[in-house]
Amino acid sequence: NTPLAFAYQGLPMRVVLGTGALGRLADEIDHAGLERIMVLCSPRQLELATMVAGLIGPRAVDIHPHARMHVPAESAAEAQRRAKEVNADGCVAVGGGSAIGLGKIVALRYGLPVIAVPTTYAGSEMTPVWGLTENGVKRTGRDPRVLPVSVLYDPALTVALPTDVSVTSGMNAIAHAVEALYAPDASPVINLMAEEGVRALAAALPDVAADGTDLDARARAQYGAWLCGACLGATTMSLHHKLCHALGGTLDLPHAPTHTVVLPHALAFNQGAAPKAVAALNRALGTPADPATYLWDLAGRLGAPRSLRELGMPESAIDRIVQVTLANPYANPREVTAEGLGRLLRTAWAGQPPT
Ligand code: NAD
Repeated sequence: NTPLAFAYQGLPMRVVLGTGALGRLADEIDHAGLERIMVLCSPRQLELATMVAGLIGPRAVDIHPHARMHVPAESAAEAQRRAKEVNADGCVAVGGGSAIGLGKIVALRYGLPVIAVPTTYAGSEMTPVWGLTENGVKRTGRDPRVLPVSVLYDPALTVALPTDVSVTSGMNAIAHAVEALYAPDASPVINLMAEEGVRALAAALPDVAADGTDLDARARAQYGAWLCGACLGATTMSLHHKLCHALGGTLDLPHAPTHTVVLPHALAFNQGAAPKAVAALNRALGTPADPATYLWDLAGRLGAPRSLRELGMPESAIDRIVQVTLANPYANPREVTAEGLGRLLRTAWAGQPPT
C-alpha cells in the first residue's frame, strides 16, 4: 500500500450547464469584457453558428465556418488572418472538438479569449491542450491561454447530434476518465470526477441512443462529458490515447470511432496493473464484471463500431502502428511491448472481445 501523496493544479473553469444555457451567452461575453466576436464552427454547423451569432447581436462581427478535424495548419492560418481582418477581440466556438480546437489555436497565436459552446462530448473545452496538424503530423501542446474562459453546455444544441456520433463521442469521453484513473499524475479529486463522469455517461448513452430528443439524457451526457474532459485536462494520458493518436495521425482514422474501438482493448491490457482504477470503474458501471468487457458490450448494444477493420484500417498497417506507438516513451501502468501491442491491435482490428 503506497501512502497517499499527490499534486493537484486546479484549472479556472466557468461552466454553465442546462437547457437554456445558451441564453447566458451575452452575459458570458459581458463577463469576459468582449466587444467583437468571431463565431467559429465546422461547415456543417453553419446554421447553428448563425443562430448563435443572432443571439450575440451586433457584437458578432464574423462567422467563420471552416473548422476541420485535427486543425490543419492552413485552416489555423486562415482563421488567424480573418480574426485580424475583422479586428476580433474574442471567439465563440460552437460545435465539437474541431471548432473548439480552431478557437484554441487562435487563442494561442493571437491571444483572443474563447467562449466554448460544445455540441459533442469530446471534452476539448475543458483542457489547456491545443493541437495543430502540419504535413500530416499532429503536434499537441499545453498552454493555459487556450483554456476557454467560459463553457456553455446546452443539451438542446445536442439534439441534432446523430445517434452514432453521440455514442462514439460519449465513448471518447469515457476514455479520458478511464486513463485519468491510472494516470501517473492522478489525484483524489480527479479520481472522483473520473468515476462520476463514467457513471453519468454510461447511464446516459443508452437513453440518448433510445431517444436523442430526451433533454434530460442529453444533459446527463454533457455532465459526464464535462467531468471526463476535466480529467483529460488535469492528467497525462497513457497507452489508449497514444494508440488512438497513432491510428488517427498515421491512417487518418476517424477520432471518436477509433477511441470507441480501442478503449476496451487498451483497458483490458492495463486492467491487471491498475486495480484501483478497476475498482472505481466497477463502482461507476454498477457491475461486478470486468469493465473492459462491459464497455465492449455497451458499444455493441449501442450499435457502435467494434473493429478497426470496419473503420478502414488495413491489417497490413498493424506493424506500422506498433512502431509509431512505441517510438516515444510514456507512462503506462503496464509495460508496453511490441508483442503485447501487436496482440492488442490484432484483436481490435478483427473486432474480437477484449482479452
Ligand atoms: P468534430 O468537432 O469534428 O465533430 C464530430 C461530428 O459531429 C462532425 O461531423 C460535426 O459536424 C458533427 N456535429 C457536431 N455538433 C453537431 C450537432 N450539434 N449536430 C449535428 N452534428 C454535429 O469532432 P469531435 O469528435 O467533437 O472532436 C474531435 C477533435 O477534437 C479531434 O481533432 C480531437 O483531436 C480534438 N480533441 C481535442 C481535445 C483537446 O483537449 N485538445 C480533446 C478532445 C478532442
